[in-house]
Parts: sequence; C-alpha cells; structure tokens
Amino acid sequence: MAAIIVQGKEVAQNIRAELANEVAELKEQGITPGLTVVLVGDDPASQSYVRGKSKGCEEVGIASELILKDASTTEEELLAIIQQLNENPNVNGILVQLPLPKHISESAVIEAIHPDKDVDGFHPISVGNMVLGNETFLPCTPHGIIELIKRTGTEIAGKHAVVIGRSNIVGKPVSLLLQQENATVTMCHSRTQNLEEFTRKADILVVATGRAHMVGAEHVKPGAVVIDVGVNRIETGKLVGDVKFDEVKDVASFLTPVPGGVGPMTITMLLKNTVVAARKQAGR
Ligand code: NDP
Repeated sequence: MAAIIVQGKEVAQNIRAELANEVAELKEQGITPGLTVVLVGDDPASQSYVRGKSKGCEEVGIASELILKDASTTEEELLAIIQQLNENPNVNGILVQLPLPKHISESAVIEAIHPDKDVDGFHPISVGNMVLGNETFLPCTPHGIIELIKRTGTEIAGKHAVVIGRSNIVGKPVSLLLQQENATVTMCHSRTQNLEEFTRKADILVVATGRAHMVGAEHVKPGAVVIDVGVNRIETGKLVGDVKFDEVKDVASFLTPVPGGVGPMTITMLLKNTVVAARKQAGR
C-alpha cells in the first residue's frame, strides 16, 4: 500500500495559525514577541534560511529584526552585538545563523547568548536541561520532527525508533527526544555495520545523514513511519532528501517529502520558542 505523504508544510501552517492567535492575545496584553536574527557573511543558503525565518515571524505577528554583518566581522564585534541583544528587553529571542566564518568560534558565540533568549536551543545550558528532561527551549529541527510524527497520529511510546545520524543539531537530540517519548531508540552512524539490519527493525525511521538517496526500500520495514531530514542539492539543481522517495513510498505507512516535510516545521518551532520566550520574560 502506498504511504501517506506527511505534508509538513500543512502541519506547519496549522501550528502557525495557532501561534498567530496566541501572539494576537499577547499583543492585547501589551506584549509583542521579538526575534533578532544575526547573519554574518553572504552564504546564499544562510540568506535563504534567514529570509524564511523573517517571513515566518511576519506571518504570526512576531516582530523580527535582521542584523546583517559582513564576513570580516570579528568575534569581539559579534559578542558585543549579542551582549546588547541580551540586555534589550524588546528582544525575546536571539538566533545567530550558522555556520559562522572560520575566524569566529561558534561555541563562544552560542555560549554568549543568554539561555532565556536561546530560541535555537543550542546553548549548553539548554542542551543540558533537555538531557535532564527539564523544561527548556528544544532545538527546532528535532522538536519539529517529534511534532510531525505525533500529528500523523502515531503513538511513539513502545515503538522501536532508529535514527541514522548523530549530529548535535539533529541525530543526537532527536534520539533523546524519541527516548523521552518512550520509544526504544537505536542510533546509527557512518561506522555502523550492516545498517540495513537495524533500519529494517524500525517502526519509526529518522534519516539525517546529508547523503542524497542513501536509504532505499531495502532499508525499510513495511508499514514504518519514515522521516527524511536530509536536504541535498543534486547536480540537476533539484533538492532531494536522504531517502529514495519513489521507492520508499511503496513500503512505508507515512513518509515526509523533501522539500515540504521537516523543513517548514523547523522554522515553525523557532516561532513557537520565541512566543514561549516572550511569555516567560513577561512573567506569564
Ligand atoms: P551532519 O553532517 O552533521 O551529520 C550527518 C550524520 O550522518 C553523521 O552522524 C554521520 O555519521 C551520519 N552519516 C553520514 N553518512 C552516513 C552513512 N553512509 N551511513 C550512516 N550514517 C551516516 O549533518 P546534520 O545532522 O547537520 O544534517 C543532516 C541532514 O539534514 C543534512 O542534509 C542537512 O541539510 C539536513 N538538515 C535539515 C534541516 C531541516 O530543517 N530540514 C535542519 C538541519 C539539517 P558520523 O557521525 O559517523 O560522521
């Protein structure tokens, strides 16, 4: 049977509509959530991500500001900007678009963001709280993946989830969140031997490798929920996922497309974190 294609774009749209209502209510109480995005350099992919974030803010009524700095900006200059944003009460969330130019330490910059304004969820304090299961800002892509799985109506508890990829921004945190949702989790990576043996046992398969089309029908258990996180530009200029969509759609029960699957959820979770930040900072 053909899989149900999980339209992340539609799910994201529904969540954004809920957020727009919440923002309108906050505005009536004199609170306008504010997000500031800092972009250093002129990487085209980063520019496009930043545009998507500004557009998302506009859609739900969040006040967004974009600070553009050229690639020669020093670490000291960037840290000074973050300090000002930390102190600015109109700024509820701060996001520094990664990657940064090589001469700037990403960890120094992430650690400079006040944890209360860390809407990307990358600060070590946010990560530590996530590991401990404390309330915190969850990183946007993993959080979006969990929401997407839930909105398919899939019960995560008790399922065997297999995650391919162990990066700090996707694989590692999504594995942890799945475990906190009471799945039994297996993490695979580039040194995993006989990958197929693991993936074929997955009720939920999350693929985040950045390797175009590496997962085919042979990797997937019939009826599995397959979440394709990968975004890869192939020679033709087309964007494709890590999963062979045309093959896997005939095996899986649910499958996310690329584009239009996980991507729109990532920005939506950022908007959600910003609204939560505004609420908390206003003591609501
Ligand atoms: P990384 O390159 O940081 O991590 C890739 C992971 O995949 C690593 O853990 C690596 O293993 C593993 N891996 C690579 N090749 C294989 C293989 N052949 N078999 C098994 N495991 C393998 O990537 P990210 O986690 O940052 O991103 C993954 C993908 O998700 C990318 O395509 C990225 O563009 C996309 N992405 C999409 C987002 C969205 O919003 N849609 C947001 C963030 C990322 P090892 O650790 O051993 O090297």
